[in-house]
Amino acid sequence: MTVTRRPGANTIEEPVFRDMCRRFAEVEAAPRWEKADREKAYPRDFYEAAARAGLIGITASEDIGGANLGATEEAICLEEVSKVNPNLAVSLLVQNVAGSILYDFGAPQHRELARRNIAGDCMVAIAVTEPEAGNDIQNVSTRATRDGDHWMLSGMKAFITLGGDADVLVLLAQTDPSKGRHGMQFFAVDRASEGVIASQIDTYVNRPAPTYRITLNDVRVPEERRLDAGFREIMAGFNRERIMVSARWLGHMQHALDWAVEYAQTRQQFGRPIGANQSIAFQLAQAKVDVEAARHLTYHAARKWDSGVPVGDVILDVSTAKLFVTQAVVRVTQTALHVAGGWGLTSELPAMRMAMDALVAPVTVGSYEIQLRAIARQMGLPCD
Ligand SMILES: Cc1cc2nc3c(=O)[nH]c(=O)nc-3n(C[C@H](O)[C@H](O)[C@H](O)COP(=O)(O)OP(=O)(O)OC[C@H]3O[C@@H](n4cnc5c(N)ncnc54)[C@H](O)[C@@H]3O)c2cc1C
Repeated sequence: MTVTRRPGANTIEEPVFRDMCRRFAEVEAAPRWEKADREKAYPRDFYEAAARAGLIGITASEDIGGANLGATEEAICLEEVSKVNPNLAVSLLVQNVAGSILYDFGAPQHRELARRNIAGDCMVAIAVTEPEAGNDIQNVSTRATRDGDHWMLSGMKAFITLGGDADVLVLLAQTDPSKGRHGMQFFAVDRASEGVIASQIDTYVNRPAPTYRITLNDVRVPEERRLDAGFREIMAGFNRERIMVSARWLGHMQHALDWAVEYAQTRQQFGRPIGANQSIAFQLAQAKVDVEAARHLTYHAARKWDSGVPVGDVILDVSTAKLFVTQAVVRVTQTALHVAGGWGLTSELPAMRMAMDALVAPVTVGSYEIQLRAIARQMGLPCD
């Protein structure tokens, strides 16, 4: 099936692309994620393998090495990789989100960075969150002060996925506090710059793609590394990212459900499979409804995005998908954990790890409350 894309974009048969992503995940993600999870260390060669497979810069134009496909293909890729591991998948999500700021808003020199990112030569991370600016991005206080043909950056970022691994941080800073949220700009900062200190945060989740605190002490950044993008662009980018986050957790919940169904079919108690008990089977049937609803909402939002409608017209679809999927993945993985009984609480089965991984779903790129607020506003409610 070929689906209409945004104007000018390439097309590919969806089943062919899905199959390619599935094989990539089996060959490149499956052998790597357990060691990465145990050691809390990102395997950089996974990013390089993804670049070789053409899975970095899926929506970027061909002149910089991109595939010029749509959000739908990006979602398919994330869903398939997440079925193997949602955390290696997030490393691809981060490349595509941070990379798209470089190629969508960058001058020629930034497109060169994007080209290297797509080629597997320059890993990027997106650095927005700060200790005092989580959901409230308007409160970003990292300061960029002009100094001739340079900027001096000082402040602290928190929870930056791959922040200590990336070569370049696509980082949001205040250039003009008098303009509030409209006085913010992105900068492409070399992580190796003098004054950049990255320290890993010890999270229970996302361990194969760790998060970092990034301290910036008078970091000198050339003016040519300032991007023509600020608060407005990040909010548009967040909507696209929310579709990808939904796809990530859709893949994870599908995997958790498949695992739980197989366990319920094979685990015997009272002389028959536990899945023969209606009470267990119904929980799994309910989880199936969650997965199917999540699939429809996610791909509905992705296809609407690809149709080229203004971002404002897709917010309701995006926030609905993000809210539903990130609630549903917690329910489905809790069901898998329950079905697994006592063994589910051990490291001998994957149920507990799946349930723990899912706990980050509602937190990033706008929590439940932030999605509900966006939905209420789209309904015309004066919700602040
Ligand atoms: C594993 C992980 C990876 C991450 N990766 C990145 C990354 O790569 N780059 C990056 O920039 N950031 C990243 N983040 C940051 C993430 O986006 C933030 O954690 C998120 O924005 C939430 O911020 P916070 O933790 O400070 O929560 P807070 O904003 O302090 O929220 C705490 C609670 O208050 C609620 N709340 C806040 N405001 C309101 C309101 N107006 N109305 C009602 N309720 C409200 C929230 O819903 C939440 O329940 C990551 C976080 C995690 C945990």
